[in-house]
Amino acid sequence: VGHRRRLDHIAIAVRNLESSLSRWTALLGIEPSEVEIHSIESEGVRVAMLPLADGVMVELMEPLSDQSPVARFLERRGEGIHHFALRSKDPAKDLARAREIGLEAVGDGPVETTVGDLVAFLHPRSLNGVLLEFKQRREERSHGGGT
Ligand code: ZN
Repeated sequence: VGHRRRLDHIAIAVRNLESSLSRWTALLGIEPSEVEIHSIESEGVRVAMLPLADGVMVELMEPLSDQSPVARFLERRGEGIHHFALRSKDPAKDLARAREIGLEAVGDGPVETTVGDLVAFLHPRSLNGVLLEFKQRREERSHGGGT
């Protein structure tokens, strides 16, 4: 079957992380101690990662400032699904493939986030209005080999 893509996370833009968190942890039956919260300066957001089964995450994103792209998203469209992410072994290669079939990247290439993940984005205007992220998790970056 070749290899099928795995969902990494679904990201939801929220105005207030704390108040959203209590709702989502209650809904999903997750303890606060299971939630990882960190700031990702490169994306201008503070995020909470809520684990689902099979390593998939729900990511709640709150803008760090009014200049954050997520702040502009909230202004234009309100709270809601902001993007989703596929797991990637090589975001640069995934981006190159996407460009080959005529899709448009956001920015020049993969960037390393504050927490050490490597991420790349495809622009919604070339993908049915959906912002798509390729994500290589930090723990999968040091194992070498991965071309
Ligand atoms: Zn993401």
